[in-house]
Amino acid sequence: MTESSSHSSGTTSSTAAISTPEYEREARRWQTLAQATGQILWAGAPDGQAEDSPSWRAFTGQTPDEARGWGWLDAVHPDDRERVEAEWRRGLADTQPFRTEFRLRRKDGEDRLVAAWILPVTDDDGRVTEWVGGCGDITERVRLREAAQERARQLEATLESIADALVICDASGGIVMVNSAFANLMGLDRDPAYRSRPLRERMGLVDIMHVDGTKMRPEEWPLARLLRGEVMRGDRKDDFRVRAFSGKDVLLNPSGAALRDESGRITGAVAVYRDVTERRRLETERELAFEEASRQSARLRTVLDVLPLGVSISDATGQLVMLNPAFFELWGENAPASQHIDDYQAYKAWWPESGEPVAAGEWAMTRALKRGEMTVAEECEIETFAGEHKTILNSAAPIRGEHGEITGAVSVGVDITARKQLERRLRASEQRTHEALDALLTLAEQLVSPPAHDETTTAEHVQGQHLQAIGRSLAALAAQVVGCPRVALLVAERRGEPLRPLATVGVSEEEERQWRRGDPESGYLRDTLLADSQARLLNGEVLLIDYTRPPFNTLPNPHRLRAILLAPLRIGGELVGVINADFGEEAHEYTAQEMRLLGAVAQLVALVVERERLLQQRMEAEARALALAEANQRMDEFLGIASHELRTPVTVLVANTQLLLRQAERAQAQAGIQNAERERVERELSLLRRMDGQLKRLNRLLSDLVDVSRIRADRLDLRPEPGDLGEIVREIVVEQRLAYADRDIRLEMPNTEPVPVFADSERIGQVVTNYLTNALKYSDATQPVAVRLSVAGRQARVEVRDHGKGIAPEYVPHIWEVFYRVPGIEVRTGSAMGLGLGLHICKTIIERHGGEVGLDSQPGDGSTFWFTLPLAQVETISTRV
Ligand code: ADP
Repeated sequence: MTESSSHSSGTTSSTAAISTPEYEREARRWQTLAQATGQILWAGAPDGQAEDSPSWRAFTGQTPDEARGWGWLDAVHPDDRERVEAEWRRGLADTQPFRTEFRLRRKDGEDRLVAAWILPVTDDDGRVTEWVGGCGDITERVRLREAAQERARQLEATLESIADALVICDASGGIVMVNSAFANLMGLDRDPAYRSRPLRERMGLVDIMHVDGTKMRPEEWPLARLLRGEVMRGDRKDDFRVRAFSGKDVLLNPSGAALRDESGRITGAVAVYRDVTERRRLETERELAFEEASRQSARLRTVLDVLPLGVSISDATGQLVMLNPAFFELWGENAPASQHIDDYQAYKAWWPESGEPVAAGEWAMTRALKRGEMTVAEECEIETFAGEHKTILNSAAPIRGEHGEITGAVSVGVDITARKQLERRLRASEQRTHEALDALLTLAEQLVSPPAHDETTTAEHVQGQHLQAIGRSLAALAAQVVGCPRVALLVAERRGEPLRPLATVGVSEEEERQWRRGDPESGYLRDTLLADSQARLLNGEVLLIDYTRPPFNTLPNPHRLRAILLAPLRIGGELVGVINADFGEEAHEYTAQEMRLLGAVAQLVALVVERERLLQQRMEAEARALALAEANQRMDEFLGIASHELRTPVTVLVANTQLLLRQAERAQAQAGIQNAERERVERELSLLRRMDGQLKRLNRLLSDLVDVSRIRADRLDLRPEPGDLGEIVREIVVEQRLAYADRDIRLEMPNTEPVPVFADSERIGQVVTNYLTNALKYSDATQPVAVRLSVAGRQARVEVRDHGKGIAPEYVPHIWEVFYRVPGIEVRTGSAMGLGLGLHICKTIIERHGGEVGLDSQPGDGSTFWFTLPLAQVETISTRV
């Protein structure tokens, strides 16, 4: 092999001797060519023997001798040598141009990959005259090519591994490559020619739409936009909809960019389409849900902001995640906002009942979180972070997740401090009212209670000691009603006489002595004061005497009284006494209610005192056997007055109590009232029921009193009508069975025949009731009571038998007298209140009906109270009914 240059410089070549100008020119041409192309060039004889080639030698470092002939093969890599030689010889034999590649050792010892080619040079006859060849170092090129191939493979693998559809196209939009995700998405297997179709045609095959389903113009197609140089980064606004061959309607989100050559000219584009159908659906769903949630939470927030209840919301760990402004109002501005469940003890609270601190684990919130407990309106005393003490009602409930797990809790606190205080005040005033009513009732009872037969001696009565004792208890009651520490009672011994001290409470013995002596130093009620106020007192006014103001500030006031209340005791338009109440040195604003109360008390006290005075007078009269008739007459008059004066207030009290009772019962029946509240209502109810019972008895006593005064005045009106005694008795028994549900009340009746009587059925009923209630009252609850109705001849007979103590024969005749009570007989069941009037009334009623009353009794063997009534003519009944 040889280069033409070697022709001139070479010494070993057969043609080296030829040296013509033409040849020289040719040799330079070769040399220039070799230099310009960087190729090793050579020539060789037709048999393949190489001529000298300077560029070969320059590359391999072989000497001309080493390279000559087939010596050049020594520079070929030993592993390639055999192949190269074989190819070479075959090429020569075929006299065809050929190419091969092999590793050639460079003169620095490095093996380089070269590409060699050989061309046969032929003469006009087609005979090979010589070979020319070239050989270039392609190591770098091959390495680059391999690297490029490797990169392409990697890229392909990468693109295949992408789940998104990917397409690479040329500048005209023709597909260069797609990945399988693209093929799958578009359903390309249905159109094998798809890849080779131009863009417009391809796009005509699928529906490309905006998200809303309207058709997209070709210039809006993502690939068209990319080919115009736009860069798409997967913005949601670029989403588009495609109905592919597969018929699948998918929402795609494009991203991609144009491909450019070095000059920046667009040579194609890469587009990636991500199927966002599901994602957008979820996103939309989530967005809607989020919008709804934020709308709701905004609403909630507004509500929570204005809600006057302290609301706290915690997550599952107890961390407070939301506290509304009212919460801080409740607990103080610096209440810790973010606490763990175990840190709740920072909130100081106590249980109202026990006074024990509320432990961190006991908070309604904690219980809601740990045990899913629901708490409604639990009362706690708290100390706020501003150091204030408050009473709150705390409620809490767990917040549950989809699967019922507790994800948090909400707690609501409401400040009831003010309400609590009001309640306390109300309760105190209610309590006071009840106490006042109780005291009034006691007074009233005292008034209608029978004169004490046994305990008091006539002598005591005569000396007025008994009256004094009663006066003291009245003064004490008055103090209780008005709620003041000191009360004094002054009465006239007899009508028209001056007022004298009767009793006082709340003062020292010494003070009382002074007062009784009428010592001016006592400072109590002097005549002048009374004289001035007489008219107003007589008018029933309750006076407020203010010692700090004129005209009273000039009065001697050794006890430094501030103000006293003065109420009149009046009987039949006469002033029989006064009662005064005061708080001593204590400053006190007297309320209108207190004044009214004292007025009422005074009225009752007047009656009691008057009665006592009359009884005393009667005793004195009895003692002296003088003017007894007159004393009795006065007593009767008094009974009339008393019952009249008492009836109205008692009726009002009964009505009021029943109203309160109904209200309380309604409150109790109301669903959802809370423990503390319920207890309060129950307390109230029992109080009211007790009062109602007392009032009913009082009412009955008053009726008795009225009846007796009517009897005395011979004005007990009866309205007899034809009726059935059997029915009257049965009704009363039924009524009493209801009232005494636990008692065994038996009834014996003569078969079903009516027992005709001409009678005031109400009054006869009153008698049966009186007998029956006495039998129940004066016998043990375990003992039965029997009512028996029988007819004998022209008489009907009603018997009430009990198994009580029985009554000794000596008392039996007296039992029908007014105010008589058998000594030693105690009430076994029910109330102790009795006047000893009932049987007297019974006797009168029965006798006025033409019947008889009687009692069969043996001590220890119970009693049988009975009455008879004449039977009415049946004809009379039938004609009258
Ligand atoms: P009171 O309201 O006191 O019961 P009554 O006139 O009905 O008045 O009775 C007068 C007294 O007769 C009673 O106080 C009681 O001592 C006595 N008494 C009446 N009924 C019975 C009875 N069933 N057993 C024993 N004692 C009775």
